[in-house]
Order: sequence, then C-alpha cells, then structure tokens
Amino acid sequence: MGIVLRQYQEAAIEQIRNAIRAGHRNVLLCMPTGSGKTATASWLIDACQKKLKRCNFMVDRINLVDQTSAVFDGYGIAHGIMQAGNPRWKPYERVQVCSIQTISRRGIWPEGELNIIDECHTVHKTVRDKLAKGDAVNIGLTATPFTEGLGRVYPVMVNVTTTNQLIRDGYLSRYRIFAPSEPDMTGVKVVNGEWETHESSNRALKVVGDVVEEYLKHGNGGKFICSAVDVRHAGALVEQFQAAGIYCAQYTYNVPDDVRAEMIAEFRKPDSAIRGFVTVTAASKGFDIPDLGCVIMARPLRKSLSEFIQLFGRGLRTAPGKEECIILDHSGNCKRFWDDFNVFFESGADGLDRKRIRDRKKRKKEEDSFILCPECKTLHKVMPFCPHCGHEYPKRAAVQHEAGTLEEIVSTGTNSERTQAVWPQIVSWALSRVNDPGKARRLALARYRSWFDRWPQTAFEETKPAAPLKLVINKMKQMDIAYAKARRKAGAS
Ligand SMILES: [Zn+2]
Repeated sequence: MGIVLRQYQEAAIEQIRNAIRAGHRNVLLCMPTGSGKTATASWLIDACQKKLKRCNFMVDRINLVDQTSAVFDGYGIAHGIMQAGNPRWKPYERVQVCSIQTISRRGIWPEGELNIIDECHTVHKTVRDKLAKGDAVNIGLTATPFTEGLGRVYPVMVNVTTTNQLIRDGYLSRYRIFAPSEPDMTGVKVVNGEWETHESSNRALKVVGDVVEEYLKHGNGGKFICSAVDVRHAGALVEQFQAAGIYCAQYTYNVPDDVRAEMIAEFRKPDSAIRGFVTVTAASKGFDIPDLGCVIMARPLRKSLSEFIQLFGRGLRTAPGKEECIILDHSGNCKRFWDDFNVFFESGADGLDRKRIRDRKKRKKEEDSFILCPECKTLHKVMPFCPHCGHEYPKRAAVQHEAGTLEEIVSTGTNSERTQAVWPQIVSWALSRVNDPGKARRLALARYRSWFDRWPQTAFEETKPAAPLKLVINKMKQMDIAYAKARRKAGAS
C-alpha cells in the first residue's frame, strides 16, 4: 500500500527537499500531534529506499520500536529492527528501526544516508554528536520545538501547518476546556523549574474527589487519559475512579512492560473494558488512542509547555463519532499556559519567538485573555457570554477601564481561601497608601497580580477593605524594595 499524503504533508516534504538541496544536513520538521508526522516520515523513508539507499528511523523509547515497525508494515515498507533478540533483526534491510537508547549503548550508529529522529525535542548526546558529523541527512520530528538550543542542532525548521488550522480542516478534533478546580500551589518549592514532586502530589491529592466527579459530569463516559503527579497520586486517582464504578488502569513506569503492552492493546479496542489510563509521563510520547474523548489534567506543571502540549495533543485525534475532546483541567495548567498554547496553536512554531514563549510575562495579548465561566467552569476566550452554557457576563463598566483586563471582572472560582482573603487586605493597604481611589485601585490590582499571577475575584470597588495582616504588610514592603531596586537599575543603565 502506498502512502497518500495530505496537502500540507506534501508541502512539508517539498520544503525539506529544498533545504537539503540548499546544502542543509540537519532539518527540524515541526508538525502538531496528530498531523501525521510518522506518515510523512514514512514517505521520505520509502522514497529513500526506493533509490536503494539505506536509512534509519530512530525512536526515543525502546517500547516505541514495535509500534513504528507496525506502521511500516502497514505501509508495506520492508525493514529490520536493530535490537538484541528481536525476531525482526535483519541487518541487510535498507530500512532500520531502532531506539536511541540501543544506539547509545552500542556506541555505533547504523549506516545510512538518511536518519529520521522521532520526538527530537529531547536531544540525546548520541544524536547531537551524530548530527555534528554532517555525514548524513538528519530530520528531526517534533510537535513541541521548545527545547533550548534545538535550533543549533537543527538550523532549519520546516513548519507547514498549525493545530488550529488542522482543527478547522477537520483533521484534528475540536476541544472544550473545563477548569472546575485546581490544587493550591502557593509556596510549593521549585526544583529545576518545576514544583517539587512530593509536595505537589500532596496538594494534588486534595482535588482527587473533584476529578472523578467532574469526569462523571462532563466526560460523557468517553475514554480518558489522566495525568498524575507521581505513582502515589496516580494510585489514589485509580482508586477513586474504581470506587465510582469506572474501570481504569494505572499506566506508570512501575508497571511491567508486557503488562503495559496488554493494557494498551485492550485500551485501543473501540469497546475497551478500560475507560481510562492514569499516567505520570509514560503516555506523553507516542501514545496514540484516536477515540480518546477526554483528557484530564491533574498534574500541575509550572514551566513545561512541551509536556502540556503533548498531553493536550493526545486528545485531539479524530475518530468516527467523536465530536470533540473534553479537557478537564484540575491542575491550573490551561490557565498558566493559556497565552502560550493559544499562540502556538494559532501561529505554530514559525511565528513563535522561542525566548518570548518561555518568558510569559513579557507577552500579553488582549485576544489571548480568558474567562472561566462561573456557571459551567468552561475556560474560554473573552466574549460577552459563555460559548458553552450561554451564561451572560454582567456589564460592569466600572472595572473595564483598562483594555485587556476584562479577566478581572470574572471569578476564577478556584482561588484558595488564602488568596481570596488577601485581596481585601491589599485593597485596604492601597487605600491607606494613596488618596486617589483610581490610583489605589491600580496599585492594589498590580500588587495582587504580581503576587499571585492572577486577578482578584472581586472588583476593587466592591471589596470591603480588611485590616492587613502582618504577612501582607511585609509582602508589600518586600515589593516596594524590589520595585525601587528595579527602578534604580533602569535609571542606571
Ligand atoms: Zn458556561
């Protein structure tokens, strides 16, 4: 069976060929999850071997070898698998499938004029060294090109379509985000840019009950995948689901490979007995269940846009009878990454200023602002009514002075009691600091926003000031000092 390419896939191949003709050896092919990266790569491999050349497809996990091999079988591409003890060991085949882990261990890269490196946003040393040699054409595949320095490894990027375009064309599923609750992450220690696991899991455990309840409410009984902080949290989620009569399976690293393979095989069946997978990271790469109807985010991520988009993307495959994918966010991730993922889904990696996308605070576009519907908890773009339940937002002109801050009139519904209690105290502090009510309002909002990275739930004018506690006064002092320092710095340079 030949490979029939979609128009944008053909365009991608054309651009890759142009880059190679222009003398480039290392090319990054960036395509959204579900856009058929493997199909496009398979076409390239097929074309290469038809010219009697050798080529290799490198996967980033040993357990993805068989999956890729099956895809090649489906396309009728003869190939061998380079892996000890594999029955498909056929070194004479021109096409080889192998894992980077196997290559790293052996220290020998298989011969070939073309290497395709799957999930290349994880840059392994073996790959980096190989690419630096320049002795073959190397094409890296990824849906999330956010790794720092990726552009140095692959100087040319081909990016022909975006998630939103694919949704508009019907190649990817539409989605709807509900954000019913989120754990309070205030004060959790940060390790390597992410929240410390154990404490994160403690916080996340507090909303486990909500997760199941909201799935029952919005999940339409569909197949789901649910992210968890760690194995303990995953276990608690599984128990809670089982208690509600929803059969689901824990898909984490401590489950043996062969059991996981069986679980996947069962889950793939249209009438699978398993309703959902609870996973930490095991399913973020190469996990492909098209009829997944619901993605549950229960693992709060602080920085990893990549991880967020990978998980999101799992739900966007289309399947017969699938109308849309429900995203149930119990992690706060959709709010935290709102600007980033909306820009990326709309403009893709081409329009993406990588420095800017990492530094979220610098970019603030009005059209990217979101509202959480207080009625149904749908997270949506700013508009006069909720697109899901039709809830109409009250027109409160008093708080709409500043463009792009419409969010401030909207309840997020999920703030911790602590941050809610702090707002009236900041209002009181600001009123005692400046006489002008307009200035006091702006000051209070700015301080609250900079402290909690979100807007308060109640408008300034409607908030009854409360005497500030020492904690709040100290925090305001700290901020005074920090701003004074920043001003001096700005003045000095
Ligand atoms: Zn609504």
